[in-house]
Amino acid sequence: MKVLVAEKCGFCPGVRNAINLAKKTLEKNNVVYSLGPIIHNEDVVRQLAESGLHTVNQIGQIAEGTVLIRSHGATSAELQEIQDKGLDVVDATCVLVKRVQKIARLLHEEGYHVVIIGDKNHPEVRAVVGSAPDVNVAGTEDDLYKLSLGKKLGIICQTTQSPDYFAQMLAAVARRGFSEIKVINTLCRETMERQEAAVKLCRQVDVMFVLGGLHSANTRKLAELCKKHNPQTFHLQNWQELDKNILFGKQTAGVTAGASTPDEVIDAFVENLRSFEG
Ligand code: SF4
Repeated sequence: MKVLVAEKCGFCPGVRNAINLAKKTLEKNNVVYSLGPIIHNEDVVRQLAESGLHTVNQIGQIAEGTVLIRSHGATSAELQEIQDKGLDVVDATCVLVKRVQKIARLLHEEGYHVVIIGDKNHPEVRAVVGSAPDVNVAGTEDDLYKLSLGKKLGIICQTTQSPDYFAQMLAAVARRGFSEIKVINTLCRETMERQEAAVKLCRQVDVMFVLGGLHSANTRKLAELCKKHNPQTFHLQNWQELDKNILFGKQTAGVTAGASTPDEVIDAFVENLRSFEG
């Protein structure tokens, strides 16, 4: 089968940095904890767990040792709690996520009511909410209608959302009567480039595969975007999950992967697909 791979896919610099930092920290320390899964990829989490990285959801679960802050970041309260307990910290928060947190604080200091557009349950968004006072999350246009009109709005966006979604939400904000709106574009270019490459590719192929963890928001977003342009789009974690019946009658396949999908997973999938004979 002819297989084309998206021009840009797989690990982003933020995720690569977090994994490298985790490996280096494990070389020097016996006990290392990650506050939440280091990335949304079960294989990588399992491999690092075998090397000694314990994943916990609460700082209360940690008595001693080193805490690794993942690329999504942590809230100011969590960082304070880590410091109060005297734990060592290795901060792998992505620089772009740190920028969003800093912008939220600056907008608040400038007197804006800060609104982050994105998914209120995503760890990055929760960390931004906990990094500055009084930050609201708007995931839908209905959420925007709950904001009181008198406020000067300072708007930012979850890094991994799509430009189309951000633009749609900004259009909804503009239709309301806020006296002042300040928008800072906090979208991640790496994510946008992956989305653009995926959409371009899925239009040229009979079937499109999006590889990545089922809990990975950016992988799900890639799959959602591709599905709009090519209904024959499938979100899988690896080659083993593929129902081979999907391949019958197809000549060309496209492959892309989320920012937390390792190169080995992509390479193995592409190799198997290329040698598949239906
Ligand atoms: S997707 Fe972008 S913002 Fe998120 S970790 Fe990767 S580089 Fe950083």
